[in-house]
Amino acid sequence: MPITPPNLPFHFETIGLIHSPFTDKFGMPRQTGLLEGAEGWIELLPPWNRQEALQGLNGFSHLWVVFVFHQATRDPANWRPTVRPPRLGAKRQGVFATRSPYRPNPIGISLLTYHGWQYKAGKLCLRVGGLDLLDQTPVLDIKPYVPYADCRPEARGGFAEQAPQSDELPVKFSPLAEQQLNHAAIDYPNLDRLIRSTLRHNLRPAYFGHIQQRQAFGLKLYHFNIQWQLHADWIEVHSLIPPAQKPTP
Ligand code: SAH
Repeated sequence: MPITPPNLPFHFETIGLIHSPFTDKFGMPRQTGLLEGAEGWIELLPPWNRQEALQGLNGFSHLWVVFVFHQATRDPANWRPTVRPPRLGAKRQGVFATRSPYRPNPIGISLLTYHGWQYKAGKLCLRVGGLDLLDQTPVLDIKPYVPYADCRPEARGGFAEQAPQSDELPVKFSPLAEQQLNHAAIDYPNLDRLIRSTLRHNLRPAYFGHIQQRQAFGLKLYHFNIQWQLHADWIEVHSLIPPAQKPTP
């Protein structure tokens, strides 16, 4: 009898949710570990929020997080075999040669730093860093990064051999932004580092070659709308507009 390949409509559960500073796709890092201050949480959802499920995890420094690109889902009938990786400008690559969110199954993997678990407002949460994920991203699985098996110094990086370079332009805050930042730092101590690294990271010419000096832009981090502008050789943050109602970080 011929053996038929398994082609069932597999069913996966959302075991957790990402709590990330990135509430908007604009300004997000393209991979894990690229931005300073990109820290957050994985909240485990019931019935998966059992402490026993984390037994042994605190000996590991990094985690593989498997998740759904929930804001990049497309009808599978419209899938494209090639995509445009941001670092290559207009040049297309095969989807399976990239880490693009737009793939037949919108599943991603991120290697995050792990800083232990704790209960936050009664919810079992894992503290993580190096995020390249949107806030509220559904998590399918968490696995420890096992250095002897996962670290391959001889590996080749194809068209992504080098990490993207960040700009060296200094980021300065206006007196108003400075004041707003100081106020925000009570709840968001990493916000200063995060704004600076996000702005430097995103000004790389491959992504923002068309950027105009003196044009004002908005960047969303947490619930703040950050207004900034590019000058000849520096970046100015004008203001951080918080919403009327402040959610808990
Ligand atoms: N490290 C992962 C993700 C790389 S792509 C992997 O290799 O699979 C990272 C980009 O995915 C981000 O710049 C952002 O634009 C996008 N992204 C992150 N979370 C997303 C989500 N939940 N839905 C859709 N796109 C998302």
